[in-house]
This record gives sequence, structure tokens and C-alpha cells, in this order.
Amino acid sequence: MLIVQKFGGTSVGDLERIQNVANRISKTLNEGNDVVAVVSAMSGETNKLVGYAEHFSKTPMRAEVDMLLSSGERVTASLLSIALNEMGHNALSMSGRAAGIITDDVHTKARIENIDPQYIHAEVKRGRVVVVAGFQGVSESGKITTLGRGGSDLSAVALAGALGAELCEIYTDVDGIYTTDPRIEPHAKKLNEISYDEMLELASLGAKVLQNRSVEMAKKLNVNLVTRSSFSDAEGTLITKEENIMEKPLVSGIALDRNQARISMSGVIDRPGIASDIFSALSEAEVNIDMIIQTSSKEGNTSIDFTVPSNELIDAKDVVKKFIDNDEIKEVSYDEGICKVSIVGVGMKSHTGVAAKAFKTMAVESININMISTSEIKVSMVIDEKYAELAVRSLHAIYELEK
Ligand code: ADP
Ligand code: ASP
Ligand code: MG
Repeated sequence: MLIVQKFGGTSVGDLERIQNVANRISKTLNEGNDVVAVVSAMSGETNKLVGYAEHFSKTPMRAEVDMLLSSGERVTASLLSIALNEMGHNALSMSGRAAGIITDDVHTKARIENIDPQYIHAEVKRGRVVVVAGFQGVSESGKITTLGRGGSDLSAVALAGALGAELCEIYTDVDGIYTTDPRIEPHAKKLNEISYDEMLELASLGAKVLQNRSVEMAKKLNVNLVTRSSFSDAEGTLITKEENIMEKPLVSGIALDRNQARISMSGVIDRPGIASDIFSALSEAEVNIDMIIQTSSKEGNTSIDFTVPSNELIDAKDVVKKFIDNDEIKEVSYDEGICKVSIVGVGMKSHTGVAAKAFKTMAVESININMISTSEIKVSMVIDEKYAELAVRSLHAIYELEK
């Protein structure tokens, strides 16, 4: 069968580990499978390159950032291909462009618009192992783009979908999806399976073990997705349709997102259409808004608070400034010392009291909740960042997730 195997930063973190990855691919090939590998940059490499760019500018041109960052993945792809050839396999590496990954032109967080799998298909048919540089594509105008941090997961899932691969394995430094980040709660339990929807919520709410867009894509294309460790042979976690899941616990997991910032606008002129104007402008600037709270209006003014990913705060500030300059917002303050903790579970659809239990847990720990948002399968709370780990551990205990 055709298997797409993706190896994350830690899995290709040094030369010995790249050899280890080559050995694993070799084993899969020798078992009679075809393999398309997708690789990340060596761990720390992307951050290092970001740092280089920021040495020269706080707001480097995004197209240049993409040109720079995409190089990290190309280094690993070619090294892995060299290692595989040395082992007697017929391997070749491809950039995102060569792999036919076409994106829009929103640099540093481009969306995949189309994949033309013919180049990879042709090579696989000739018995070759293709090693694709993850995290990148090419825009219609021929410029290199990147898919947002953690985007190699998306490269792998999208390729698995386009190639009609039977399986997409995401190899990382933990042996599956846990009830929460095992680095925060050592009692976290590994899940054998989880639904696309729950995984999508966990990933969107901060569990970086899978990039959220990759899960969205896996659901859309119905890709068989497994997360597992590149350092052991332990069975991983299957991410699949809800109807395939045997156990449906009330709460499946807790996510933590530290990369959140809050924007509090007061003295916002209360006229019909103001919220639409502000949030349309933010959307045009490609700022992702999460929670929004508007308080009731007093003397023709209102207050609106909302949260954005920390790395989009600069862009959000630019947008808000225009409304201040137009006298439509009086004051604004920014808070980067917040985080968001969330509880996720499809079981919540049919049970009440899950949210109340979470709020009570925060009360018992004397943690003040700043903002709340809920959906059918999640409850999120914005709290002071210094309580992040305490909140995760208390919630993990109260819902008995270690059992
Ligand atoms: P890679 O470099 O392989 O893409 P990442 O660092 O992006 O790996 O993701 C793996 C990390 O995700 C783990 O080391 C773990 O700390 C973190 N993580 C967060 N939430 C979870 C969770 N629920 N289950 C497993 N790992 C999680
Ligand atoms: N190297 C990129 C990052 O660090 C992409 C990835 O690892 O998935 O975000
Ligand atoms: Mg990752």
C-alpha cells in the first residue's frame, strides 16, 4: 500500500536521527509498501531563521520570510534522500513546488488550493521514494509560500489525500494523542482513537501535536491519520470519524494555548455596523479572531474585548489604530499575559453540567476567569497565564482523565 510518513522537527533533529528516519522508511519499503515521506526542518531551525530575519526588521516582508523559512525543510529533505540512496533505495527529494502544492498568496500562512500529484505519482510508479519538503508550496504567481507554523502536518495530510494514500502516519516525539500535553500533566493518558472533530478542537485550541488545518483537511478528505512516535514502535492514536469510535467519554482532553493576546477597546462608538467594520478590517488584515465580548452600551459607547494569536497582535494593533484615529474608539489596551484553557469532548453534546464543573474548579483554585466561550463540544476559558499549568492539572483531575 501507499503510505505517507511525516517526520517532525525532533524526529529529524540531528544527523543520527535522520538516519533513524531513513531506517524506518527502509523497513516500511522492505515490507512491500510505497512511501512518500514529508519532513520538517530540524528542530529549532525555523525559529533560528525567524530570529535572523528579525535581526534586520521587526516586520520583515512576508514573501522574504517564506523564501527564508522554506529552506529549513529543504535541507532535511535532501539529507534524508541522500541517506536513503546510500542504503540502496532509489530516493529523490522535492520542494513543495516540485511536489505540485499550489497555494494562495497569503505569505507565512498560505492555504493549499490545489495539489497536482502527477510528478510524485510518476516517480512512485517508477519505484522511487519521494521525500517532500513540508510546510511549503508555491503561489499562482510562482512565489514560494509557507503554510503556517506546524504546517508540515498539513503538507502530509494534503498529499495523502491527493495521492489517495491508504494511510498517513505523523511521526513525532510523543507516541500519540494524550488527554492533555504530557509535558504539563505526567498523568495524561494516551488515547487509542479520537474523532476528527475532537482532534480539530484540541488542535485549534492549542494542542500543537497536530496543526489544526491538517486535521480539518484529514476530515474533509477522509484521510486515515495516525500519530505515533519516531523513537519507539508503540501503537499510536488513530484519528477517525466519530461513528468509528468505540468509547465516547464525556471529556476527551484538555488543551492549553499560551499564544493568545487580548485586546480591550473602550469608548467604542455604538452605531449599527461598528462591529462589522472593525472585524471586517481585521479579517482583511488576515488576523484570526477568537473570543469576542461586547458589554452593554452606556451613553452611546460600548466596550469590546477580543483575543487574537500573539503573533498577529502587531497586525491587529495597526487595524485598531485606524479606528482610534477616526475617533470611533477612545481607548485600547493590550494584554499578552493571558492563556486559554479548554475542555473538549463529543460527550458534552448529550450531557449538562460539564461547563459548571469547570467554572467551579477554577473557583476552588481561586483562578479568575476573564472570558468564556462554549460550543457543542468544548468549553474555553481565558485566564491569567501564570495559572496555566495549575488550571490544566486541576481540570484533568476533576474529569478523571487519568483513568
Ligand atoms: P513535531 O515537531 O513532531 O511536529 P510538535 O512539537 O509540533 O512535534 O508536537 C508534539 C508536541 O505536542 C509534544 O511534544 C507535546 O508536548 C505536545 N502536545 C500538546 N498537546 C498534546 C496532546 N494532547 N497529546 C500529545 N502531545 C501534545
Ligand atoms: N518547521 C516548521 C515549523 O517549525 C513547520 C513544521 O515543523 O511543521 O513551524
Ligand atoms: Mg508540529
